[in-house]
Amino acid sequence: MIEKTITYDQSYQVNNHGYYGEFGGAYIPEILYPNIQELKTRYLDIIHSPDFQEEFNQLLRDYVGRPTPLYFAKRMSERYNTQIYLKREDLNHTGAHKINNTIGQILLAKRLGKEKIIAETGAGQHGVATATVCALMNVECIVYMGKIDMERQRPNVERMRLLGATVVPATSGSQTLKDATNEAMRHWINNPEDTHYIIGSVVGPHPYPDMVARFQSVISEEMKAQLKEKTGSENPHHVIACVGGGSNAMGAFYHYLDAKNVNLIAVEAAGKGVDSGESAATTYLGKPGVLHGSRTLLMQTPDGQVVEPYSISAGLDYPGIGPAHAHLFASGRAEFMSVTDDDAMKAGKLLCRTEGIIPAIETAHALAILEQRKFDPKEVVVINLSGRGDKDLQTYIDYEFGL
Ligand SMILES: *Cc1c(COP(=O)(O)O)cnc(C)c1O
Repeated sequence: MIEKTITYDQSYQVNNHGYYGEFGGAYIPEILYPNIQELKTRYLDIIHSPDFQEEFNQLLRDYVGRPTPLYFAKRMSERYNTQIYLKREDLNHTGAHKINNTIGQILLAKRLGKEKIIAETGAGQHGVATATVCALMNVECIVYMGKIDMERQRPNVERMRLLGATVVPATSGSQTLKDATNEAMRHWINNPEDTHYIIGSVVGPHPYPDMVARFQSVISEEMKAQLKEKTGSENPHHVIACVGGGSNAMGAFYHYLDAKNVNLIAVEAAGKGVDSGESAATTYLGKPGVLHGSRTLLMQTPDGQVVEPYSISAGLDYPGIGPAHAHLFASGRAEFMSVTDDDAMKAGKLLCRTEGIIPAIETAHALAILEQRKFDPKEVVVINLSGRGDKDLQTYIDYEFGL
């Protein structure tokens, strides 16, 4: 584990050099420098322009279905003797928060004059969200996916194809997410002029982590107004979210980063246990290093090779976390906790039975914190319900019957 530095009055926003404390930056091959430089110099002007804002907000409203409700979970609140609110990102079009980011990036790509989109995907959720916005905007879409992941996640491959995307198998290495990322990078290097690369979480070289965080920040922006209306205060006592790369968590934390009395709880996947060798609990197991273009915390061997992560949920099965989260961890601003496969599956099933909501297994990790940690009866606890569990039906069924 890395040493925590207790610091006060520091910024949790990215600085001019693309860093969050000691994490971040843009560690990229020289040949990609022009692409990243173009993004870096133009993304803020584009995002802030009235024309972008109008189109982005209109699509979030009419196409994605925002604002998503903030739901007071009465039975869960009674069970855990505290005030539990669920931010319903599971009700977004395509079933999770990922579409907030892909809508933002496709609008940005259009304004950069790009004609093609590439993306990488592991479980296929980001691939589906990308294929969706490409269909919407009539833009060519190529999604790189590990050959093994394509076999494991066949329905998502079919969804992407139905939406008109080309899914290209990555056949090198372990034939999973990191190999798909390598293939996508290779494509981008060879086609820098006409192609935009849509990264799916708050990871990658600067400015991606900041850009994705801004697109997802609509989650906490809405939460503030909804809490004000329901509880009289914009601020809850705790915000809880699961962390794969960290985009839904960053969206849920964003407008509370400087509100020091709001406790932020980030939940990682412990897999079969943090010390079992089959885990994805990055802050517990990781050390600083460079992954996918940024300096962050990642699971690695003593000589710096990336360790293959494991979690029952495909969306949390990532060997690193975004650099902003590494900083939230190192600075002590957010609490990082982890939840095993077993505890997540129990928490997922409990939500089905108490509130009639089937959560994604990623999200179930955040819910499991209610078993680990006591909250006061008057405290307001917001859990970001990052996605719905339809995609996980088979995993729930297999788990139930011990297959
Ligand atoms: C992809 C995914 C996650 C993990 O990604 P983050 O970038 O950490 O948010 C979590 N929940 C759901 C439902 C997902 O699809």
